[in-house]
Amino acid sequence: MEQRYLTTHGLVLKHLSLGESDRRIVLLVPGVGKIIAKARGAKNLNSPFNGRLMPANICNLLLYRTPGGSWTITQCQTIETFGSLKQDLLKASLALAVLDIVDRCTEMETPSDELFALTKIFLETIDSSQHQEKQEKTELLFLAYQIQILDILGILPSFTECVRCHKKVSIETLPGWHPLEMLCEICLHQSSQIAYELYENNYLKLLNFLRGRHLADSIKVKLSTAEQYTLKTILQTLWGAQSFSIPKSLGVLETLRA
Ligand SMILES: [Zn+2]
Repeated sequence: MEQRYLTTHGLVLKHLSLGESDRRIVLLVPGVGKIIAKARGAKNLNSPFNGRLMPANICNLLLYRTPGGSWTITQCQTIETFGSLKQDLLKASLALAVLDIVDRCTEMETPSDELFALTKIFLETIDSSQHQEKQEKTELLFLAYQIQILDILGILPSFTECVRCHKKVSIETLPGWHPLEMLCEICLHQSSQIAYELYENNYLKLLNFLRGRHLADSIKVKLSTAEQYTLKTILQTLWGAQSFSIPKSLGVLETLRA
């Protein structure tokens, strides 16, 4: 028989209202994946859940699973609240954008401990980075996170072989590349009509560098505003080819600047 109680920890992705006094909490739980759990009475002022089941908090949880498969949170203690990032409008917005991306890109109860670890590292890194740090560095961290989540989701191609002839491509000699259709030099020459503009190879090197590094290292990369913008465009192209809608979270920087 399936275990009814589960002691675990989880990241709160978002909370939703449920009736007059309850909430539904969307959680990312290691070993389980994304779940929606009911928190009874969570809206009441004297609820023990008060202030704990907030987005971007990591909590110790005692979960109960009904025979029908629905989850209820019976106990909860916060482990991490990332208090400093929540004091900063840009950081808080990017954290919410990341939680939104995780929520949209994951199926229910499909475990991905890699995704949990990556998202936790993002929150820790953005939380501990200095306030006086440039806004561009914070944004670069968000871009690096996207590269790594695209990689985990299997959306980011390996960019090592040509999608037409499957020959290995050499970044050094390639005249340019496109994130959705990696072509070798020969196939590029044979295609008289390419409906898109090619990106410089430096961006391919950058992408490969950022996909394999610890997120905290990504902010050491020096990029001009124009280069950072191009990297963002490349990521938007990759997201754009997916079926799930991401524009809300990716638009967050534009919204903040408006
Ligand atoms: Zn080829």
